[in-house]
Amino acid sequence: MGRTQRQRQRRNSQTTTTTPPDNALHVLYGQLHALGWRNETRLSALNFAQTGRGLCSKSKSFQAGDELIRLPASCLISIATLEADEGFKQLFNRDLFDKDARISFQALVACYLLYQGHLYESTNDSPWSAYLDTLPSSYTTPYFCAINELQCLPEALLERTVAQNRQIREYYQLLKALVGEQHCKCCGQRYCEDIWTLAAYKRAYFTVNTRSVYIDARQLKQTKSHFQLLINGSSNLALAPFLDLFNHSDSVQTTAVLYSKSQEYVLTLEASSKTVLKPYEQLYISYGALPNLKLITEYGFYLERNAHDYFEFSLQDIEQLIVHNKELATQNYHRNIFKFIREHNLMDQMFVHIQDGCSHNLRVVLHLIFKQQAYFPNVLNQIAFGDVEQFNDVQPELSYLLTYKMKEYQGFVDALRRLSQLTQSGTVALGYLIECLRYLRDFEQAHS
Ligand SMILES: [Zn+2]
Repeated sequence: MGRTQRQRQRRNSQTTTTTPPDNALHVLYGQLHALGWRNETRLSALNFAQTGRGLCSKSKSFQAGDELIRLPASCLISIATLEADEGFKQLFNRDLFDKDARISFQALVACYLLYQGHLYESTNDSPWSAYLDTLPSSYTTPYFCAINELQCLPEALLERTVAQNRQIREYYQLLKALVGEQHCKCCGQRYCEDIWTLAAYKRAYFTVNTRSVYIDARQLKQTKSHFQLLINGSSNLALAPFLDLFNHSDSVQTTAVLYSKSQEYVLTLEASSKTVLKPYEQLYISYGALPNLKLITEYGFYLERNAHDYFEFSLQDIEQLIVHNKELATQNYHRNIFKFIREHNLMDQMFVHIQDGCSHNLRVVLHLIFKQQAYFPNVLNQIAFGDVEQFNDVQPELSYLLTYKMKEYQGFVDALRRLSQLTQSGTVALGYLIECLRYLRDFEQAHS
């Protein structure tokens, strides 16, 4: 693996926009130590050229099978933390909980961060003060792009951003209805009106979105269930101070387990493209086998030559291609075919993958639209779910689609470059689009 791995000019933008001062981390070490963390693997935070802040060990080497970190559950902000916080719980009157107006646990943790943030600011008395100090003040997901930047982004990014916005606003309104009118004991201000602004809530929401880890909450020692009827879905996530400084890589596999007996959360390096990771080398974990679209929209970064990447198309892309391609635009397309594709969800999982080629569904859809004369549902059924071999005739149309997409993305890149300045989110989005173009070009070369 070594050679190609080294040759890759990997640059990823996991750099947080504001690196907190080192003394904030020192205070955090102290607070976590007081909660029982022993830092057996001698982890330190350093700034690395490729990623910005990340973690390494100054004295230990690591190989597959080694533990990276062992953090007591008391160091996590989990459902158990919220359930044990009497002041926070008092804000939520259980009589007002409505089964048709629940919020996700992520949305509640975001609210908890705001609650602790205000305690810290107004009384200087939050148990999470050091952690709050180490959090970035902004995030680089496309969600935080300026409006003129959003206008230069493709539908695939906008779709997710719009959905996130709808969700966040909905949760904020629900919290407002539940807690908003109440006054803070220390300053007398009203929570959702004066203290928790929508802008601050958005930031807190993305703190949880970008930094939380998966935990099996059933393993937590926890007795009370004040929030049970408020939360929609599981409580299987937690904020993990310090541990959340690990950056993501596609060349490692890691596991994370919360042990119920010891109440410890343990991250283990399962596999790595490097046999030995020496002291001072950055240690990575895997957030999952995620493509760049997911990484940028949820975490605000992407990886160059991401091993888990693929490029997805929508049915709208194909419709747009037909409109813009002179040869294709002259043909007739029966609406039954599009109806059939939608009804059978064949437009899901239409993607190209640099090693595996064109996905089955993309082949089927291109074949149905461009190669089929029949438009009766029973015939389409036989074709779509029949023999795979017959879909190998769509190479020209796939080429058109790739060319169309690259032209479209090049247009977005040019438009972003024309803007007089870019936000951090805009800069990351621009890099992502350039990476998409490289991916499509490489795909075309490998498969034409
Ligand atoms: Zn107050």
